[in-house]
Amino acid sequence: MRQKFVVGNWKMHTTAAVAGRLTQAIADGLGSDTRVRVVLCPPFPYLALVGERLKGSRVALGAQNLYPAADGPFTGEVSPTMLLDLGCQYVILGHSERRHTLGETDAFIDQKVRAALAVGLDVILCVGETRDQRNANQTEAVLDRQLGQGLAGVTAGTLARLSIAYEPVWAIGNLSHHATPQQAQDAHAGIRRRFGLLFGEPAAQALVISYGGSVEPEDAAALLSRPGVDGALVGGASLHADPFLAIVRAA
Ligand code: PGA
Repeated sequence: MRQKFVVGNWKMHTTAAVAGRLTQAIADGLGSDTRVRVVLCPPFPYLALVGERLKGSRVALGAQNLYPAADGPFTGEVSPTMLLDLGCQYVILGHSERRHTLGETDAFIDQKVRAALAVGLDVILCVGETRDQRNANQTEAVLDRQLGQGLAGVTAGTLARLSIAYEPVWAIGNLSHHATPQQAQDAHAGIRRRFGLLFGEPAAQALVISYGGSVEPEDAAALLSRPGVDGALVGGASLHADPFLAIVRAA
């Protein structure tokens, strides 16, 4: 049985004050309920503050990115060990906004995945096709490429610290264009099949695959009850405690 997994990706939103209040409300709202694994990923400047508020709660801390080097002359970047130092257990890598807005390649994402796993962080690797790629029937080919290259550095010993987030680019931040539960289920099945070819069937069955792209409280239960949809990576709806808590409850 794969434990359900809900991750809040705050992207480049909040202030210190908002981040503190939001964290408190989410931690209080969840109480001691441990049925769903919950992670909050605030912007870098608020990691320490959010981490402090999460102490003693059952919510884990995650980052939204890292730079794949231990330390050195990389102005403006943040290393995997700095994230560990701040109490992060998770890191989101390969998000479509980084791939498409900030120009990250599969090869660079592969380096990041290796660097994160090497220090003991848990990786949430995002994959997903654009609208044009889906319309051109390239979804499977795109996912295969992103998985093949993004997972090149994953070894048997690190598999347990990896999960995948399927985030169709056309559904992110786009309430009028969610993926349907069936589209999510089909894509997840394809990802699990591919993962099985790479790492074997037991690893594929253990792999947690979350869906992301405008997950809202209203549709969370329909998505998360589909076979193979093990969690949600939530952007917009994670910026307020009530909808985020409702998604966790739906999971
Ligand atoms: P969204 O973002 O829920 O606002 O669509 C999800 C994500 O990009 O992780």
